[in-house]
Amino acid sequence: EALNKIIDLKGSIRVFCRVRPFLVIDKRRTHEPFSAGSEKIVVKSSGARKEFEFDKVFPKETSQEDVFAEVEPILRSALDGHNVCVFAHGQTGTGKTFTMDGTNEEPGIIPRALREIFSQASLDNSSSLTFTMSMLEVYMGNLRDLLSPKAAPRAHEAVATCNLSIQTDTKGFIEIEGLTEVPVLDFAKARWWYNRGKRVRSTAWTNVNETSSRSHCLTRISIFRHGDALEAKREVSKLWLVDLGGSERLLKTGATGLTLDEGRAINLSLSALGDVIAALRRKRGHVPYRNSKLTQILKDSLGHGSKVLMLVHVSPCEEDVGETICSLSFAKRAR
Ligand code: ADP
Ligand code: MG
Repeated sequence: EALNKIIDLKGSIRVFCRVRPFLVIDKRRTHEPFSAGSEKIVVKSSGARKEFEFDKVFPKETSQEDVFAEVEPILRSALDGHNVCVFAHGQTGTGKTFTMDGTNEEPGIIPRALREIFSQASLDNSSSLTFTMSMLEVYMGNLRDLLSPKAAPRAHEAVATCNLSIQTDTKGFIEIEGLTEVPVLDFAKARWWYNRGKRVRSTAWTNVNETSSRSHCLTRISIFRHGDALEAKREVSKLWLVDLGGSERLLKTGATGLTLDEGRAINLSLSALGDVIAALRRKRGHVPYRNSKLTQILKDSLGHGSKVLMLVHVSPCEEDVGETICSLSFAKRAR
């Protein structure tokens, strides 16, 4: 209890850094251009030495279980009524999707979070919790509903033409008009919808790798807390799990097949997100939510009383050191 209070005082924005292991396709798989401690990463590049401190650094051998163990308390606070946003940030190919989604053998944060939420909810008899789920993609300022009944996993056009608009209600809550919100009663159903959303997302593109580098993918779990039967009041909190578009700079984007416009759109929304988080961090009056669709959507979940976790991903490769420094600098601003 007391320890929780101390942790709370540390602030509600946390930044973790995860280093991707070397892959078979990496050209040179010898040494990393940095040394990673448990809360610090020191980058050495062309004689210069740059130090970055984070709440946690996960070296390349860190398992999905170990990452989840650190993320879990933050996710759990969504069940206690906090809005929570978890972002995976970094250059394309550094493991954002691996961390958030993972593989069948090594599931990532989202499938684990879904399982955890339902097992926690079943333990909690004091209040009754119900859940809904939505998934959307933000691509060049357009919103795509990934759970729309019209978006059959093979009907490309249905997804592409989905029209969603962001509204703010009188209480300041964000409403994405037209976005499908499905009730999820148990883990099996939640996983089914999640997998369906992923399929819809990937079939709208000609190749799976393009998807993640050009758009942001947002999964939202809304948690409804119903008081006793006499009380009509119900409280809502939101858990956002976000796989961000690749952060690589435009000069290098030829490598990932990004067009200039796509790259620009992603860079703009990432810097808008960075600006919002930096403003929240400084507890400054004005928070510039309006500068991108991404920050408009997350407006009521980023800020007062909410918990933010930025997971910044970096490559272990020498040739990526420039991008690595950019990603670490972005994350440092948030912290
Ligand atoms: P991103 O989403 O950032 O573009 P991916 O998650 O697709 O990157 O990762 C790129 C490749 O690296 C994938 O083949 C993925 O399985 C692998 N990979 C990334 N991180 C890890 C990790 N921690 N352990 C094992 N493989 C990883
Ligand atoms: Mg990805």
